[in-house]
Amino acid sequence: MRRNRNVKILATLGPASSTREQIEALFRAGADVFRINMSHTKHDLLRELVGHVRAIEADLERPIGILADLQGPKLRIGSFAGGPVMLEPGKRFTLELEAVPGGAERVQLPHKEILQALVPGARLMLDDGKLVLRVEEASPTRAVTVVEIGGRLSDRKGVNVPDVHLAIPALTEKDRADLSAAVDAGVDWIALSFVQTAADVAEAKKMVMGRAGVMAKIEKPQALERLNDILDMADGIMIARGDLGVELPLEDVPGKQKLINRAARKAGKPVVVATQMLESMIEKPAPTRAEVSDVATAVFEGADAIMLSAESAAGAWPVAAVATMNRVAERVEGEPFFRSIVEAQRAEPEATAADAITAAAHQIAENLKVAAIVTYTASGATALRASRERPNVPVLALSPVLKTARRLAIAWGLHCVVVEEPKDLDGMVDQACKLAWREGYAKIGQRVIVICGVPLGTPGATNMLRVAIVGRSVEAMQGGS
Ligand code: PGA
Ligand code: MN
Repeated sequence: MRRNRNVKILATLGPASSTREQIEALFRAGADVFRINMSHTKHDLLRELVGHVRAIEADLERPIGILADLQGPKLRIGSFAGGPVMLEPGKRFTLELEAVPGGAERVQLPHKEILQALVPGARLMLDDGKLVLRVEEASPTRAVTVVEIGGRLSDRKGVNVPDVHLAIPALTEKDRADLSAAVDAGVDWIALSFVQTAADVAEAKKMVMGRAGVMAKIEKPQALERLNDILDMADGIMIARGDLGVELPLEDVPGKQKLINRAARKAGKPVVVATQMLESMIEKPAPTRAEVSDVATAVFEGADAIMLSAESAAGAWPVAAVATMNRVAERVEGEPFFRSIVEAQRAEPEATAADAITAAAHQIAENLKVAAIVTYTASGATALRASRERPNVPVLALSPVLKTARRLAIAWGLHCVVVEEPKDLDGMVDQACKLAWREGYAKIGQRVIVICGVPLGTPGATNMLRVAIVGRSVEAMQGGS
């Protein structure tokens, strides 16, 4: 079973997609990685969902990625004594640490770190940025604000504080418990919300201990300021446009999306474009023109993956949403402009053997008519460098390590297959030809490029490139997978 596109699709699981049958339908429609949102998923359900995905994986013999998305320090106001209140522009509104039910002039803000960080002039964005307050007086226990954009405010609405650095780590107690449960359940990626610094990512990596990739969600201006440090530390990046679009003016988001995409591509770390991609499909079976255009933009940008949130988790048309993304991605990648746009943003190879070899493979694939590039990868590093090249032919990532194959499911252009480790170089080339043929990427008589590290099993030793012809013998070849 192969995909006819390079960009990958992430689908969030939820009430609309929690049975084995529903998840399998999403996979068949095109989902490559499933996201489990820990804000809404208890540990029993987490383990059940992971179990369903693994069963599908075993049945269909395709490695599937699972990403557990931690809630992070999601900040909320307290509750109101007499139900929702209306905030009028120009009026004062006070936020206090003290746990007293709120009213028209005040409400609790149960986060001392916010009150400590606030300074006059800073903004508080409430309920996804629908209401805006500006701080007039700040103290460690209360902040008096003036309402800039008013509206209805109800219990426990979210608070974003874009203007100041908050002295809070990206991992709350809940996140730590969720992270442990997710890693124990065998997920492949952990996503961190509201990252502010590379140290936030380092803290998560210390807990994960290499058992999963760690993805930093870029959704705060503080993270954008330190994007390169965060990219160095993280294994992947998510452009979390939901909160990013609250913390930044909405019109800044498309430019930042391009900037983050390019920086991640340069670093060779998988980058996911997230949130509201097909928002209207939560209710309707077809998307808007603007949404199709948004998906197309991410594909033209060469993002590794595009993501569905509520569309697949809680919408009325989860399978149609995945199928729509799949169709749009296939069509966009087939457009005559696609290659030249992706090439124009190509990141130059770095001065390493792995980059020299993967860049050479890319170039050979353009010179000779080859059907595919086949990489051997134990840790996944070589395959990610090959993906970073964004070559014009499919890349098969063969790995003896199931966890590697699953983690790479998120990366642009990689078709991952778990294989037995070949005994020698000839065995490796034979196996590469056989799998390229068996998986539907090469016909008999076509050429493939094989890249690997010799001796086998030496991590980080990519040093060999071979052009091989897929011979008749693949039909009779035993084993190899
Ligand atoms: P969320 O993250 O859906 O967990 O908030 C994504 C985003 O903010 O875009
Ligand atoms: Mn978010």
